[in-house]
Amino acid sequence: MSENQVACLYIVATPIGNLSDMSIRAIEILQQVAVIAAEDTRHSGYLLQQYSVSTPTISLHEHNEQQRSEVLLSRLQQGESVALISDAGTPLISDPGYRLVSLVKQHGIRVVPIPGSCALIAALSSSGLPSDSFAFEGFLPPKLVARQQALKNLANEGRTLIFYESPKRLRATLADMVEIFGQDRQVCLARELTKIHETIVTKPVAALLDWVTNDHFQQKGECVILVEGAPPQDKDDIEINRILSLLLTELSVKKASAMAASLLGVSKNRAYDMALKLQQK
Ligand code: SAM
Repeated sequence: MSENQVACLYIVATPIGNLSDMSIRAIEILQQVAVIAAEDTRHSGYLLQQYSVSTPTISLHEHNEQQRSEVLLSRLQQGESVALISDAGTPLISDPGYRLVSLVKQHGIRVVPIPGSCALIAALSSSGLPSDSFAFEGFLPPKLVARQQALKNLANEGRTLIFYESPKRLRATLADMVEIFGQDRQVCLARELTKIHETIVTKPVAALLDWVTNDHFQQKGECVILVEGAPPQDKDDIEINRILSLLLTELSVKKASAMAASLLGVSKNRAYDMALKLQQK
């Protein structure tokens, strides 16, 4: 290996659509290592051919990662460098590799990132939503009740939220967001990034849902959903929520909000609306 004489594990990002997004360093590393661990060796075979990489591949996916990690560790210990790639983008980001990286590091072997494409970063950087602080949530649960609960848990999160989503569930997820986050939260749909039909649209979530519903084309392809963070709660809201949360453990919404309103000197309607929201969480 010219980059480093000591064997190490390279975590190599590959394109998420546009093949020109592969870095020169990534190609060189893939050509030089002894073996490439790939999620789907057939899928990656095509990609590697495009860059004249003839290094042998070995599969490493969700179902064999534990066992393959041991095999790769022993090759690394014998002095062979290994590269890990996934089907697209950066390995370990909603993709396999975590077990391999942690095992290899436990054995004192160096892990070297070769950065490149990543759908969440590409989407965030072009969404127009705040990018100074964000929370990547990966895929939401596919089942309705679990998905809604996951969204409820995030309803007061002030950072920009980022989700990967299947096009099959896009409309259902946007509908859940309207219900749980309200109609007006700005949401960005980043579809088919770096590909011919790339679309990056940011609108209030209810308007985005209408647009997607009326344009079937938007319900196809790979997508990232980004959600503007919740507005900061003022100090009063925090105190009202604290008292309401305590009262709601014993009382109905109606009784808890009436008691909170008289204790804190706020309007009954305000306390009632806030109690309802808390109970829905
Ligand atoms: N490791 C990848 C990365 O670095 O972004 C993500 C792998 S995850 C299994 C696949 C999901 O990433 C897709 O379902 C989609 O949500 C998102 N994704 C991948 N490529 C994309 C693209 N070109 N445009 C939009 N979203 C994409």
